[in-house]
Amino acid sequence: MVAGFLRALSGTAARRANRVSFVSMKPQVVFVLGGPGAGKGTQCARIVENYSYTHLSAGDLLRQERSRKDSESGQLIDTYIKEGKIVPVEITINLLRKAMEDTMQKDEDKFRFLIDGFPRNQDNLQGWTAVMEGKADVRFVLFFDCSNQVCIDRCLERGKSSGRSDDNRESLEKRLRTYLQSTRPIIELYGEQGKVRTIDASRTVDEVFADVRTILDKEG
Ligand code: UDP
Ligand code: MG
Repeated sequence: MVAGFLRALSGTAARRANRVSFVSMKPQVVFVLGGPGAGKGTQCARIVENYSYTHLSAGDLLRQERSRKDSESGQLIDTYIKEGKIVPVEITINLLRKAMEDTMQKDEDKFRFLIDGFPRNQDNLQGWTAVMEGKADVRFVLFFDCSNQVCIDRCLERGKSSGRSDDNRESLEKRLRTYLQSTRPIIELYGEQGKVRTIDASRTVDEVFADVRTILDKEG
């Protein structure tokens, strides 16, 4: 009888009645990776201004969670961020999944996501696969590539005003080490699947964004 009732509803109403999480379109995801200070956040903001993407920064979501009053993981997140270590994926994936669900529940046309700063290691990748495989499509990886020196210079410059607890020389060295040891292999893995779009991120914001445009105009 319930099934008959649902069938009797129009398509949209039936979808609403049946709403669990991702109702209509499967989320289409672009992972945005690159070293600390490579310009991921800056370029994502530019993309959002010009294309219909929602920007989710894993780091920002973690920082928000850290500052939530009754967060159980606030202290752990704080320590991991200062140490440039990668937070256990159970925490990150839940924040990401919830942010995607909330976005699509508010507006089901918002199914395109830039997921910035994730997946950063094997643990992240496994967590993503366990929770999101089949539920979201990873279209490709936008890889902002620049030298370690550029990363260091930019983060120290940003540190003068960012207020971030990890934009200092000590944390930065650890973040860079984590990036080289843990994140680069993930980028290589996607590369073997032909899924990486590499951009020379050492240039100006406008120059880099011109390349981003070329890629997005082609790939949608
Ligand atoms: N972080 C994490 N898991 C993630 C994303 C970020 O543990 O999926 C932590 C990690 O400690 C990292 C810090 O958050 O060093 C800052 O990440 P963010 O992406 O904000 O730094 P960015 O790469 O933009 O400089
Ligand atoms: Mg960032």
